[in-house]
Amino acid sequence: MTGRTGTSGESGGDPLLQARAVSREHGAGQGLVRAVDDVDLEVPAGQSVAVMGPSGCGKSTLLQLLGGMDRPTRGRIRLAGHRLDALGERGLARLRRAHVGFVFQSFHLMDELSAVENVELPALLAGFRRRRARRRALQLLERVGLGDRAGHLPSALSGGQRQRVAIARALANAPSLILADEPTGNLDSAATHEVLRLFETLRLAGQTLVMVTHDPRIAATADRVITMRDGAFVDDTAFLATRAEPASLIDLES
Ligand code: ADP
Ligand code: MG
Repeated sequence: MTGRTGTSGESGGDPLLQARAVSREHGAGQGLVRAVDDVDLEVPAGQSVAVMGPSGCGKSTLLQLLGGMDRPTRGRIRLAGHRLDALGERGLARLRRAHVGFVFQSFHLMDELSAVENVELPALLAGFRRRRARRRALQLLERVGLGDRAGHLPSALSGGQRQRVAIARALANAPSLILADEPTGNLDSAATHEVLRLFETLRLAGQTLVMVTHDPRIAATADRVITMRDGAFVDDTAFLATRAEPASLIDLES
């Protein structure tokens, strides 16, 4: 259903994600902060990228720009063939619904919705019919090991379980790109391990991922590690991609 290949992504076509000379400034005059400073980035479909660097170096700002949740002060971003600067707010929202899944450090689940309702919401917004969205949400919860928690409210789940629900939710619209901002930042080591395994499974399945992390174990699951300092890339190292058969986490039947 997702139609991705699970190869290294060197397809020769346009990269899924492309940033050209992108900067994002906050404030003005003495208070000016260049959170992202003249960054170039190409991410081919199927690549899994970890972004590391000290607190305040611009990682979250970069992720928000790449996902069309914020706009650059300068430069251009293309995602899935769309120039983000050419889109208005509604166009950006539509692009996010169609192409982007977001995972946050603090989960951002809707407290009053059950696990399955949280997961199916992006599928509904992306235009899936109700029954298909529900079936997909239940399948995704199974895949993240929470099939028996579908009816639970987030308050009845552990931190690791909440983040697994959030990952299932990020997959609900069959996104071209998953963006994760310190997805294990609020988790203990057992929960971190569960989330780590999920990202590894996603990588093996050929899901394009950009993950901000302080955790070298998360970075070790990526094909490529970018290090930022003061808004700029100071290191960008790609590893040889090794993949088993595409896993079934994201290839749902419906
Ligand atoms: P990181 O995620 O690497 O910790 P951020 O992207 O959150 O870094 O922040 C990068 C820099 O931009 C920091 O100096 C931060 O204070 C500043 N910054 C981020 N968002 C805003 C904002 N909305 N207004 C002003 N400054 C901001
Ligand atoms: Mg951050």
